[in-house]
Amino acid sequence: MIIQIAADCEEAQLDRIKSEVQAIGYEGTDIETQFGKYIIAIGKKQFDIRRIGSMEGIKDIHRVSDAYKLVSAKWKVGETKVKIGEDLFIGDGHFQMMAGPCSIESEEQIESTVKHLVNNGIKIMRGGVYKPRSSPYSFRGLGIEGLKLWYQTCREHGIKIVTEVMQVSQIEPMHDYIDIFQVGARNSQNFNLLDELGKVDKPILLKRGISGTMNELLQAAEYIFSNGNERIMLCERGIRTYEGAYRNTMDLNAIAMLKEKTHLPVVADPSHGIGVRRFVPQIALASVMAGADALIVEVHESPEKAFSDGQQTLSYREAEALYENVRKTIKLRGELV
Ligand code: PEP
Ligand code: MN
Repeated sequence: MIIQIAADCEEAQLDRIKSEVQAIGYEGTDIETQFGKYIIAIGKKQFDIRRIGSMEGIKDIHRVSDAYKLVSAKWKVGETKVKIGEDLFIGDGHFQMMAGPCSIESEEQIESTVKHLVNNGIKIMRGGVYKPRSSPYSFRGLGIEGLKLWYQTCREHGIKIVTEVMQVSQIEPMHDYIDIFQVGARNSQNFNLLDELGKVDKPILLKRGISGTMNELLQAAEYIFSNGNERIMLCERGIRTYEGAYRNTMDLNAIAMLKEKTHLPVVADPSHGIGVRRFVPQIALASVMAGADALIVEVHESPEKAFSDGQQTLSYREAEALYENVRKTIKLRGELV
């Protein structure tokens, strides 16, 4: 059960609500986010919901049977629109494309990518400065100095930054240089990291775990929300299945179904989703038709020279054709779905 607390609820009223929750045999947890106050009450006893719903200091009360509560679509009216920086939105009809290399490699690469994005009306650049790599001998990113370089060029051109944070100690040094913290697939259930990202004032792009279920993804998002940060986007990036012909299996089903399960925006990452460059555009368009609120794609001036994930990275020419087709597909989706 989610109890939404009214903005003008007084301390004494809140105490009375909590006592009543206890009296009916429920366990209450206080939540305070940047947008509101809630009590999550967990229990199984039957009771008349009006017993709490009619109390002073309550804005609304909802029964939510899912294991995840605040991220569930069962209580919130409409879809969540996540604000990125001061002037950009994702979700509730606001679609964005995010593009850039797998890894930030050099100043020249940053400048070339930013130019490509500006020319194509893309407002968010992706890239990794801390890279989770299967081998410790692979390139692991330029770190905070690379991020500072990147930030400067992006700010000059009005481009926002989404990049992966791998551990709690990186949050603070990265904070002022990013617009969206990305949680990678390998950290999707790093609950300490999720707790801390719940305390920051920046949006979070939370990826689905490599073998993660939708429920696990939603419960991971619940960690962030319940720690105070409602600005969350979920990202389908492919899952590991028995099929070995491609890197991952892009779960298009999950995009459609997540849109029903949660009010949060759903982002699609077709680059990691299939992991094979020539199929990325098709899977990207299919993701849009499945209901994605945003796309994140890997692009590079010379994909074959990329420090990481070149095999799934689009050239600028390929990416430009995709952006065009995505815009057409969004229009078509509006007409069909
Ligand atoms: C990435 O975005 O480059 C990345 C490492 O993604 P994932 O965490 O989905 O593997
Ligand atoms: Mn990558």
